[in-house]
Amino acid sequence: MNASSFPALLQRFFTERLVTQQGASLHTVAGYRDTFRLLFRFAKARLGREPSALRLEELDPAFLEAFLGHLERDRGNRPRTRNHRLSALHAFFRYVALAEPAVRLQCQRTLAIPMKRFERGPVEFLTEDEATALVSAPTAATWIGRRDRALLLLAVQTGLRNSEITSLRQGRVTRVTPGHVHCASGEPVAADFVVWATGASAPAWIGESGLPCDDRGFVAVNDYLQSTSHPSVFAAGDVATMITRPLPKAGVFAVRQGPLLAENLRRFLGGDALRTYRPQRRFLSLISTGGRHAVASYAGLSWQGRWVWTWKDRIDKRSMRKYDGVPWPVDAGDAYVRR
Ligand SMILES: Cc1cc2nc3c(=O)[nH]c(=O)nc-3n(C[C@H](O)[C@H](O)[C@H](O)COP(=O)(O)OP(=O)(O)OC[C@H]3O[C@@H](n4cnc5c(N)ncnc54)[C@H](O)[C@@H]3O)c2cc1C
Repeated sequence: MNASSFPALLQRFFTERLVTQQGASLHTVAGYRDTFRLLFRFAKARLGREPSALRLEELDPAFLEAFLGHLERDRGNRPRTRNHRLSALHAFFRYVALAEPAVRLQCQRTLAIPMKRFERGPVEFLTEDEATALVSAPTAATWIGRRDRALLLLAVQTGLRNSEITSLRQGRVTRVTPGHVHCASGEPVAADFVVWATGASAPAWIGESGLPCDDRGFVAVNDYLQSTSHPSVFAAGDVATMITRPLPKAGVFAVRQGPLLAENLRRFLGGDALRTYRPQRRFLSLISTGGRHAVASYAGLSWQGRWVWTWKDRIDKRSMRKYDGVPWPVDAGDAYVRR
């Protein structure tokens, strides 16, 4: 074998084998490239020869073992890194064994160089304080920081692996069967436990009624909570969208619109001037995340923890207590019970 065949083989290994045939990732190609860079540097020091003058026969197992020893001894590489470098050499010599049968014996002996055993440390779990510190490390002042926080929080709360997080996809779910979620793309996703987290959606009858709707199909109303086309039709809460100021579909708005809706209905029937609904600018959001934990947000600030859950629980119970003793509409109630 002449000297020119080694550079040609190496080039074909990177371009044809790794990139074209195997579709290796950029990280793999870069890792293999670094291995050969180090090997050439070592060869120059040891043999006094430029990479272009190197012969494949010179890269025999003894030479390669000396190179691996140099990595550990002189560069302080750990066995795991040494094994990565050896993987790159193995991949190259597997390719050479097919491309140049004349050097098959050398390839076989190189492929017989074993990986080094090493102790794997036990997997450590983060304490609650460590996890909190990790999640709050990215800045909340930039969208990239907020994205990183969201990803870290997702990882901490779900225990998903990196590969599982990067494979999260948005898609329309068409069906859920035991053990699987089926998507519109036709791809079933295996699932042990399914959590539905949905937003409000408009019922079909609104669009069919001929009332003007917003682009999501909710009744379009003016500032008096009155349909923009039919003055005698009023709508409030999730089912309505104020066209001058679309609001999130949240209970805080629905609850506050209730009294004004009742008053405007009375005023409309009495021929009086209607009152304008003025939504609050800011509102507190409290969401339970399970395990007596909750997150809160208000005016761009957020909090989380057990104390937030206790806070939410108190607000919820106080709110429900208002309905204690409220008489059930007797006729409707009886009719409902009898059905
Ligand atoms: C799981 C969940 C958690 C939520 N948590 C919060 C929260 O923490 N804070 C918050 O602010 N908001 C929260 N929301 C949103 C909040 O519940 C809604 O914004 C709020 O209930 C809207 O009130 P509403 O009266 O407009 O509609 P709804 O509360 O949905 O009431 C509509 C009523 O109309 C009835 N209905 C529907 N169609 C018909 C029909 N054709 N004939 C007769 N009756 C009909 C329905 O059965 C229902 O009782 C949450 C929503 C969900 C689903």
